[in-house]
Amino acid sequence: MALVTGANRGIGLEIAKQLAQRKNRVILGARDIARGEAAVKEISSGNVTAAKVDVTDQSTVDMLAQKINSDFGRLDILVNNAAILIDETDFPTKTNLDIARFTLETNLIGSWRLCQAFVPIMRQNNYGRIVNVSSNAGSLEAIAENLYSPAYSISKVSLNALTMMLARELRGSNILVNSMSPGWVRTDMGGPSAPRSVKEGADTAIWLATLPDNGPTGGFFQDRKKIDW
Ligand code: NAP
Repeated sequence: MALVTGANRGIGLEIAKQLAQRKNRVILGARDIARGEAAVKEISSGNVTAAKVDVTDQSTVDMLAQKINSDFGRLDILVNNAAILIDETDFPTKTNLDIARFTLETNLIGSWRLCQAFVPIMRQNNYGRIVNVSSNAGSLEAIAENLYSPAYSISKVSLNALTMMLARELRGSNILVNSMSPGWVRTDMGGPSAPRSVKEGADTAIWLATLPDNGPTGGFFQDRKKIDW
C-alpha cells in the first residue's frame, strides 16, 4: 500500500504510475479530488485510487490516515512529493516572507505532517519506506555555489534535515527514510526545456520506495547514488 502526495501531475503522477506497475496498491493524493480522479483514469490501472489530501490542511491528512488505517491497517510506502516553487526573486534580502512562509508550510511542514500521520501506521507493521522528494536546490553545497529561489531552496534544505532526523529516530525499525533529487525535469514546475523526462525524474524515488530491508536510511540520492547535503 503506497501513498504519493501531489500525484495528479508531473513527477508524482509518474511515481504513482510506476508503483502501480510494480503491483503496489496506490493511493494517488491530490488536493483537488477531481484532478486526482482524472489522473487515475490516465493511469488506467485497477489498483490506483484517488484521495483528497492537501498537505497544508491537517484535517485532510488526518482523515486519510484514519481511512487507510481502518480499511487496510497498513501503509508501506509514503512519497512526500507535493511541493510549490513560487519564489519571485533569487535574492533572500528581497524575498516576500509570506511567500517564504507558505512555501515552508507546503514543502517542509506538509511532508512533516504526513510523516507524523503515517509513521505510527508503519510502526504497527514494522515496515515503511519514506521518500522525501527534495531537490538540488536543497543541497547546502549547491547553495554555496549558486543563489536560487531562496524560499524553495530553504524548504528543501529543511526537508533534508527532517529526513536525517526521522531516520535517526526510526533507526532499529524497518522504516527507511531518504531524500532524493529528481534532477531538472520537464513538468509544470521544471518547464519545457528541462533535460529529463518524468520517467528519469521518478526513477530514484521508485528505487528508494522499494528498498530491501538492508537498504540505506537517512541519505540524499540522485540517480540512485549518494549526493552531497
Ligand atoms: P508540479 O508539476 O508543479 O506538480 C506539483 C504537484 O504538487 C501537483 O500535483 C500539485 O497539485 C501538488 N501540490 C502543490 N501544493 C499542494 C498541496 N498543498 N497539497 C497537495 N498537493 C499539492 O511539480 P513537479 O515538477 O512534478 O515536482 C514534484 C516534486 O519534485 C516536487 O517536490 C519538486 O520540488 C521536486 N523537484 C522537481 C524538479 C523539476 O525539475 N520538475 C526539480 C527538483 C525537484 P495541483 O495540481 O493541485 O497544483
